[in-house]
Amino acid sequence: MKMLIKNVTAVLPDGSTPVTNIMIDKNKIAGIGEVPEDFRPAKVIDGTNHLAIPGFVNAHTHASMTLLRSYADDMALMDWLNKEIWPAEAKMNDEDIYWGAMLAMLEMVRTGTTTYADMYGPWMERVAEATIDAGLRGVLSRGIIGVAPDGEQKIQENADLFRQFNGAADGRLKVMFGPHAPYTCPPKFLEKVAAAAQDLGAEIHIHMHETMDEINGSLKEYGERPFTWVEKTGLFDGKGTLAAHCVHLDDSDFAILKKHNIRVAHNPGSNMKLASGVAPVPRLLQEGIVTALGTDGTSSNNNLDMLEEVNLAAMLHKVNEADPLAVPAFTALQMGTEFGGKAVGIEDIGRLEKGYKADITLLNMQGPAWCPRNNPVSLLVYSANASSVDTVIVDGNVLMEKNELKTLDEERILFEAQRCADRITK
Ligand SMILES: [Zn+2]
Repeated sequence: MKMLIKNVTAVLPDGSTPVTNIMIDKNKIAGIGEVPEDFRPAKVIDGTNHLAIPGFVNAHTHASMTLLRSYADDMALMDWLNKEIWPAEAKMNDEDIYWGAMLAMLEMVRTGTTTYADMYGPWMERVAEATIDAGLRGVLSRGIIGVAPDGEQKIQENADLFRQFNGAADGRLKVMFGPHAPYTCPPKFLEKVAAAAQDLGAEIHIHMHETMDEINGSLKEYGERPFTWVEKTGLFDGKGTLAAHCVHLDDSDFAILKKHNIRVAHNPGSNMKLASGVAPVPRLLQEGIVTALGTDGTSSNNNLDMLEEVNLAAMLHKVNEADPLAVPAFTALQMGTEFGGKAVGIEDIGRLEKGYKADITLLNMQGPAWCPRNNPVSLLVYSANASSVDTVIVDGNVLMEKNELKTLDEERILFEAQRCADRITK
């Protein structure tokens, strides 16, 4: 189907913001600018007073964990996992996984996210189903914990997920392998994960260097930093690696990141809430390492609002470096869009440009946060919030138009999610 977004203020890849037209043909952007006479759209969206941006790419989250939002807050990471999160997760059944994921889909659509990278499980096939039902683009991985007795089975489940869903839903689904973290996956086990992923040509999604405790624990147990010994397992030798957090990095870690083209998902909200530390984002960007943004799960954030992460990325590094130039507004926006596409290994998303996938978010600029309109990118990053998002398009399909959801039943999702959460947490 041909679609036209008319008279919209578009954030182009060079940061300019002309009032223009975006032409969509099937699932791709067919052009931006003057509409040729022979382009006859079946649908026209009036973009007057709207800002068009590439849909946000949430490069690291745990969608079904949304059921545990506000369940356990203000704790240290390992206490939080051991005492609250892991026991609650042990009670989840496949219905919980589905409705937790649907709650996440609802929030992602409402806040303008079009692609997300997930790590969770079991029953990741229900997350795939939720993603297909919602119409989002999902990069799924089965969270694999090697210290558990069923570690091998989880590798198998991840392989099955890959065979069943990689490339499914017209290519909207992609599957990676999800070894949880170096502190939950010993070296011999990571070798097995690496072999299984490389057999299938799958990429890796893993938590790396999130806290100082993780680094110190590794130094005590292995005499080496996690990046150093994980490299030796061959985990980084496959098709590609997405490493979440990377908060604590020294020169040796930077060398490994660059050598293997490892892409980083920076999670400023989660890192601040869990007091994990401040990732060296200005240096990562300077050294040309792909650095994207993620929300992490909603029990450590506590939302899936990517515009908030964009704002936090712009703000946190300024105060941390005592440098107001550290991460400029447009760079922060690129981290949440274009760099996100690169981070999840999908090269043709994250830019409003001909040939790119039609994954587009529109924000309504009528309101005080958007006035006066001196600089739309500045207004987006520093002044507005995600409540301005009113239209979301993924793969050329409209998921929300002028706040009206097209694929999701909001009332039902909120009801089912509450019902599931009540059973798990009470
Ligand atoms: Zn995480």
